[in-house]
Amino acid sequence: AATSDALLSVEGLERHFDGVRAVDGVSFTVAPHEVVSIIGPNGSGKTTTLNLVSGALRAGAGTISLEGRRIDHADPARIAEEGVARTFQNGRVFATLSVRDNVEVGLHSTLTASRPFRRLSRLFLLRWIPLLGELFIAIIGTPASRREQKQIDARVESEVQRFEARLGPRRDDPAYSLSYANRRRTEIARALALQPKLLLLDEPTAGMNQSETAEVLEQLLQLKADGQAILLVEHKLDLVMTVSDRVIVMDGGRIIAEGAPQTVRHDPAVIEAYLGR
Ligand code: ADP
Repeated sequence: AATSDALLSVEGLERHFDGVRAVDGVSFTVAPHEVVSIIGPNGSGKTTTLNLVSGALRAGAGTISLEGRRIDHADPARIAEEGVARTFQNGRVFATLSVRDNVEVGLHSTLTASRPFRRLSRLFLLRWIPLLGELFIAIIGTPASRREQKQIDARVESEVQRFEARLGPRRDDPAYSLSYANRRRTEIARALALQPKLLLLDEPTAGMNQSETAEVLEQLLQLKADGQAILLVEHKLDLVMTVSDRVIVMDGGRIIAEGAPQTVRHDPAVIEAYLGR
């Protein structure tokens, strides 16, 4: 396959856990501006795949490239700097920080990436305690220069405004006072503030009711219209079929089908994987 135009290119990816072949020879691409979803039964390797792409896990074999540059041996902070931002399955925010400050966490470490302290902190803080490490850097780490702080404030403002346009004036609310859905939206805002080339979303609607899910779908469609490339892991098939350009179906650590939503939906192997158990 021609992968030179790909934004993300994954080839022969493998990750085993004590004999469990969680990801077992997975290859796929995400083009610029493309929305690609990974679906499949529980335990089929979707989250592990996302964790490998974001650098949270190290692959046993295979390569991961972003715009042709290998990122499979980079740590998560470096991969974020290269332009891959993610959210987590259960939504990770700092409960006592405001919405605004939660969105800001992460920008410091990315925008001051070339500083000596940051090099050091990348080795220690960000490698072993990724999200908390970001917080340390924001508070005690390399102070941003005035120019950097301006850039940080502008990005935070833009995402906070986008958040408030949907949810009302909430920027100063501590995260613990938010609904579960709004905590997850805060996390998406934080990822978007990084202005990522590729946004990784792990079940962004998990635990949401129908109207909250509909709202996330609307936001995803807006991001898609804006040209944001997204790699999405999601259980709600209606949402997946509506938002995706392409759908990858995993089962037992392998890709068993791939294609346009309508094609995949009627693929016998997919129906078997979903209904055969
Ligand atoms: P999915 O996201 O599709 O539900 P996962 O990627 O979470 O699947 O898991 C794939 C397989 O790998 C499962 O059998 C799971 O039990 C196993 N697995 C995932 N993470 C670990 C881990 N940290 N240690 C051991 N086994 C794991």
